[in-house]
Amino acid sequence: MDILVQLAYLVASFAFIFSLRALTRPESARNGYRLAIIGMAIAVVATLLHEGLSYEWIAAGLIIGALVGYPLGMFVPMTAMPERIAFSHAFGALAATLVGVGEFMQVKSFSHLAHDPFRMGALSFEVLFGALTVTGSLMAFGKLAAILPGRPLTYPLQNFSNLAFLASGAGCLVYLVLASAGLVPMHAEVFYAMVGIGTMVGILMVIPIGGADMPVVISLLNSYAGLAACATGFALDNTILIVAGALDGASGFILSIAMSKAMNRSFANVIFGAFGAVDQTAAVGGAGGITGEMHPISAEDAALRLAYAERVIFVPGYGLAVSQAQHQVRELADVIEKRGGSVIFAIHPVAGRMPGHMNVLLAEAGVPYDKLLDMDEVNPKFAETDVVVVVGANDVVNPAARTNKGSPIYGMPILTVSDARSVIVLKRGQGAGFSGIENELFFDPKTSMLYGDARKSLTTLTSEVKSA
Ligand code: NAP
Repeated sequence: MDILVQLAYLVASFAFIFSLRALTRPESARNGYRLAIIGMAIAVVATLLHEGLSYEWIAAGLIIGALVGYPLGMFVPMTAMPERIAFSHAFGALAATLVGVGEFMQVKSFSHLAHDPFRMGALSFEVLFGALTVTGSLMAFGKLAAILPGRPLTYPLQNFSNLAFLASGAGCLVYLVLASAGLVPMHAEVFYAMVGIGTMVGILMVIPIGGADMPVVISLLNSYAGLAACATGFALDNTILIVAGALDGASGFILSIAMSKAMNRSFANVIFGAFGAVDQTAAVGGAGGITGEMHPISAEDAALRLAYAERVIFVPGYGLAVSQAQHQVRELADVIEKRGGSVIFAIHPVAGRMPGHMNVLLAEAGVPYDKLLDMDEVNPKFAETDVVVVVGANDVVNPAARTNKGSPIYGMPILTVSDARSVIVLKRGQGAGFSGIENELFFDPKTSMLYGDARKSLTTLTSEVKSA
């Protein structure tokens, strides 16, 4: 039986690895998910074949989990996805922490952990990282859901005291390993102190980070939850937990780095820089240099331009997600194409509020994958484009990222829409983007502003283009 279980774990591990590979491209992402689900089902069934399990408790856990998970998956809107993910990370990490605490409590005499320093180390790591991920994720959820103040809260010597806390947690871990090796006496209090320290570190770590930058933190916490699960695998001697946890930990870490890069932040700045604190002087500098006024356009005039354009590029941003206008943008694209125009979509890596946000929305609306072009691919095409339609995007098309050294987004790679012959921007009013700064593109003489909710504007444009 054990051989069968190990074989099943091997198959599940391959499924996870190939699913991650498939998730790197929009056209194979759905299959990637299916493969991951199959892999997880195999892993769960194989685990249930272990002897001595209490199936009543497992069934109860499954029912409670399904009751909480189904509404989270089905009814939470796309715009609330980052906080939903933060919330689920807290659950995952709580599971790892509770398994660790349970394992520690199981044998009060610690006899099974005595003379096994490696296992004790893995267990302690699991609990320390698990506990800090629970509270860190809940803090991230609270900030994103506006239950807690979103602004970064800073105080003197913050990084130093946070590191000191983390070091004391690591000190407990080392003590427990030494105790397990019989070099110092074992004290359960040290273990519980470590759980408490982990819980505190999670809170303190997220306090200095602004709510708007939470997605990077969530991705990092995802990585921690993966590492905690990996350590659980070592503590429980379970291969699939080790593999899945390592994959989760590594991919979360890589994603955090990729997101920081796309937002033009160093990783150290992400962790220690109280990021999300918009540098007010820089923000003012960003707006201060802009002169002139925005040029409003009527839906009729905008539609005429689109109806006779040969090449059109749509640039979706966070506003598309807010107004849930993915189906309407696709309808407009279809109508333009029926009239003989060519349409593509420009996807910025951090448009919206989570990685892949725009891809997911547009895929949901059935926009063919070959029409979604990444930034590097699409940027050279703007110069030969008649009309760019910016749908609720702001920072990702802000030329200040290239031109204004004082701007908080200076250095962030952007979609160079100002190279196009004309630009139509769909937004509700004169609201700033995520970074809180003005956008000189909106003041450019070749840019026209079509004010209103993106969904309504797109619906009007579609019927106007049809009748043009
Ligand atoms: P953005 O800079 O946040 O701008 C969104 C714009 O949409 C706003 O200016 C707003 O203007 C408009 N808007 C809001 N609701 C709308 C509606 N119903 N209809 C029409 N327009 C609407 O968005 P972005 O250009 O997509 O840039 C994303 C930003 O998020 C970047 O700064 C990025 O660094 C950051 N970020 C992204 C991620 C990620 O993983 N994707 C993670 C963390 C941070 P009005 O109020 O005037 O309508």
